[in-house]
Amino acid sequence: MKKYTNAFIKEMPKTDLHLHLDGSMRIPTLIEMAQKNNVKLPSYTEEGLRELVFKESYANLGEYLHGFQYTCSVLRDLENIERASYELAVDNQNENVYYIEARFAPQLLMDLQSGLTMESILEASYKGFERAKKEFNNSAEVKNGSRPEFHYGIISCAMRKFGPKGYSPFYTNFFKTMEYSKEMEVLKEGALQMVKAAVKIRDEKGIPIVSIDLAGQEEGYPPGKFKEVYNYAHKNFMHKTVHAGEAYGAESIFQAITDCYADRIGHGYYLFDENKIVDASITDKKKYISNLISFVADKRTTIEVCLTSNLQTNPEIKDIKNHNLKHMLDNRMSLTICTDNRLVSNTTVSDEFQLAVDNFDIQYKHLKDIVAYGFKKSFYPGQYIEKRNYAKKCMMHFDEIAKKHGVI
Ligand SMILES: [Zn+2]
Repeated sequence: MKKYTNAFIKEMPKTDLHLHLDGSMRIPTLIEMAQKNNVKLPSYTEEGLRELVFKESYANLGEYLHGFQYTCSVLRDLENIERASYELAVDNQNENVYYIEARFAPQLLMDLQSGLTMESILEASYKGFERAKKEFNNSAEVKNGSRPEFHYGIISCAMRKFGPKGYSPFYTNFFKTMEYSKEMEVLKEGALQMVKAAVKIRDEKGIPIVSIDLAGQEEGYPPGKFKEVYNYAHKNFMHKTVHAGEAYGAESIFQAITDCYADRIGHGYYLFDENKIVDASITDKKKYISNLISFVADKRTTIEVCLTSNLQTNPEIKDIKNHNLKHMLDNRMSLTICTDNRLVSNTTVSDEFQLAVDNFDIQYKHLKDIVAYGFKKSFYPGQYIEKRNYAKKCMMHFDEIAKKHGVI
């Protein structure tokens, strides 16, 4: 017998702290935008795109990332960025996800010839989220206290390699003056420009850019290479998250925390795998892993767990029951359940929670802890006291919903 019904999972208040805007668009919107902007798609029907691009399962990470070229192409348009942001917030509100942090790399969408600057891109996204927030928070249900308010933050991503042909006009301009062999310097320079612009826009315009992230191909591009970028964010009171341990090992997670001051880790999947360690100086791998697990758990560095996405990009996991979520729970780590990409992974926050509770032994107290971490470990764009009060209200609502569904 199921401990938690679909209705309860859907109605309980939730967060999504690891959510890519460009991987989470609605398919009909993508098709409409592609037609408007003359972007070529392999199919112009939902079924066709599901069959050819946004699949149930993927052969590898490369195939998983393939669809981003289409979403990024249509998002090189301010009106489309605003609409995609608005719709993403509404889709979350509709499944009682009250707090989201949406991430994307403005560098991938920039095109100075078309007037697409870092600033105008981040501002367009802000307008879309802000409109959705205001509409929701002015609804009768929020006004009469029967649902919590909706809030959001924007995470701006630094990029590692994302395919030699996939460079956006922003990076192509760099390559005109720099050798391709100096790729790492190009990526770092792009990331530095991004973080400086993000801090400036946040401070001058009050746009809630709450954190930076590092996304793209992990292997060969360890977080430590972006130390300077993270240091700039750190010294400007900006939060930090890093995709680490998604495709390679524990030392990537260690660098994210020690070199990049990461408050949270995206995926962290290979934290537990001795075989993924490549650093030859780590001789006692078992000890290193156990020390690192304890270090991450003790610091309460929060792991952004994306179950479906991990299964899709690491087909060797094969079965959800083999997912390292079990070890994360056993080691009492701070974790939060996220979607990664609603479109590319064909999922929702409710689906991800359902997968977790159906396949792992998660007692009520732990489920409540996981939900609470989403609110408490968020990079809420306000003062700590405000975040605390908001998290408290959302968790009181959680208790009410649990009572209503007979879970407690
Ligand atoms: Zn991600």
